[in-house]
Amino acid sequence: CVTSSLLPNTPTKPQQWLQVVGHAGSFHVGADGTLLKRFCEGEQQCYLRLMEDTLRPFVPAYHGVVQLDEQDYNMMDNLLTHFSMPAVMDCKMGSRTYLEEELLISREPRKDMYEKMIAVDPEAPTAQERAQQAVLKTRYMQWRETLSSTTSLGFRIEGFRVSANEECHTNFKRTRSRDQVMEVLHNFVESNPHIVWGYLRRLKQLRQVLETSDFFRAHEVVGSSLLFVHDWTGRTGVWMIDFGKTAALPPHLTLDHRTPWVEGNREDGYLWGLDNLIDILTDMLPL
Ligand code: ATP
Ligand code: MG
Ligand code: MG
Repeated sequence: CVTSSLLPNTPTKPQQWLQVVGHAGSFHVGADGTLLKRFCEGEQQCYLRLMEDTLRPFVPAYHGVVQLDEQDYNMMDNLLTHFSMPAVMDCKMGSRTYLEEELLISREPRKDMYEKMIAVDPEAPTAQERAQQAVLKTRYMQWRETLSSTTSLGFRIEGFRVSANEECHTNFKRTRSRDQVMEVLHNFVESNPHIVWGYLRRLKQLRQVLETSDFFRAHEVVGSSLLFVHDWTGRTGVWMIDFGKTAALPPHLTLDHRTPWVEGNREDGYLWGLDNLIDILTDMLPL
């Protein structure tokens, strides 16, 4: 967890913000309920398009580029602004969290990745990989995602924090099964069915909008998260964040975000993951 201070020369009304996961040092809290994230052009392009899309209510409002100490930042709404001591969870969506183009970087067998693989699971390499003492990068990336729920459920919990005086929980890289995920979600909502209801209502609205969004149809949405926020007043909210790895598709190509991925089809499993998440939350409600 990283908590951030106010920018210099901004009004001193305390602005609360807390970062669950992601690169430390990439963010500053701005004035008037805004948040600055280190500039990334791809992310800017996404936000500009999202401001014109039906998805607009489901992403932080985007306010353009600002400079601070010679560094550019994308300025957006701080989603925690209207909550009181919120609980926050970052859930990374999709059945794949690397871009297809990242697979093209290296097709050579990698000894370092073989070492990393056997450090986690000595049984993981195939006979051929064992003989070579090396694995392909593609194979390594795909294997790594089978450790969490990314491959099996189409999303994974990156981290959450329930209360201000508690640290972030981020140790979910090997949280894979439906039951394990449900237990983490129970801890996050503190088994409060009212909060689960709030999240479900919002996620179902989001799903409906995603299914018809022009932006969503035309983008490979990888490494993006849903940010869950609730507080003791019972207020809940969910927004899409982190479009650093979201890539526009060529004009002739669209995705349904549910078809299983095979290299070349660029499917990301986002909606399949959302279906599973909605399913699990539904099962958490009392009968
Ligand atoms: P990653 O390692 O996932 O690529 P990143 O550096 O791209 O991380 P984000 O995923 O965009 O960063 O954000 C990291 C964290 O910061 C989120 O988990 C969330 O806690 C917080 N955060 C990001 N955007 C917002 C926002 N608009 N409002 C409130 N909190 C935010
Ligand atoms: Mg992120
Ligand atoms: Mg990112």
